[in-house]
Amino acid sequence: MVLRGVKVEVSPGIHIIPSARWSRIYLIVGETLTLVDSGLPWHPGGIINYIRSIGRRPDELKHILVTHSHPDHVGGTLSLVKKTGAAVVTHRSDTRRDHDNRLHLGYTGYFPVPIPLIGRTGVSHLIEDGDILPLHGGIRVIHTPGHTRGSVCFLLEESKVLFSGDTIFSDGGRISRSVPFPGYDRDSYVRSLKRLSEFEFEGVFGGHGSPMLEGGSYILSRLLESHPEPPTWGDFFGSIPKRLKRSFPMTGEYNFNPRRK
Ligand SMILES: [Zn+2]
Ligand SMILES: [Zn+2]
Repeated sequence: MVLRGVKVEVSPGIHIIPSARWSRIYLIVGETLTLVDSGLPWHPGGIINYIRSIGRRPDELKHILVTHSHPDHVGGTLSLVKKTGAAVVTHRSDTRRDHDNRLHLGYTGYFPVPIPLIGRTGVSHLIEDGDILPLHGGIRVIHTPGHTRGSVCFLLEESKVLFSGDTIFSDGGRISRSVPFPGYDRDSYVRSLKRLSEFEFEGVFGGHGSPMLEGGSYILSRLLESHPEPPTWGDFFGSIPKRLKRSFPMTGEYNFNPRRK
């Protein structure tokens, strides 16, 4: 997918912020604006410019949905909240109560120390597995612990698009899984993927890589059947020559698509 140009609407009403190149930031455009993740701390300027470039106002951004609390996904949140007044929506397990008695982002549950680059970002709404957020025709919350304890995926119920954070990635036609990071819990991760594959979704809009537009849950279940073990760092390093040769992203395992052997 080409990310040049001003407007990057990858699916009706879903835009990618083009200036964020490492982690992906999605903007859902409807009556109000909703952001999925906020990228690195230097990304808010590009987000605000993008909102203006599609003819909307920054104060129409009402919600920032957090897939998990790693710094490349929530680093821009504090600055965006100050600029727009948006509410921060996250799972309790990726927050911690601070000495001011408010819940803050920047903790990943398994790793109880504050993560740098996030600032003291307060949380507005806590979400749980099974919640349906009354936004954009309904957004289902699927709690998928493993990559972090509070990792969640957001499923747009009408269009069957899954925002998967770092739980799974896609590269257009392929799906891949996360390698173990500090704080990763393998058993929870394996259980979460199995459960995720039981939902019906077409699009996979991950925290890195390029969106998959169709076949998401089918391809995920085929991946889990044929390669039940999630990737290790050994698999990751072993695949670097192939990735370089075929310009695959440096995230997750080597990509998998049962339709393209
Ligand atoms: Zn992550
Ligand atoms: Zn990430």
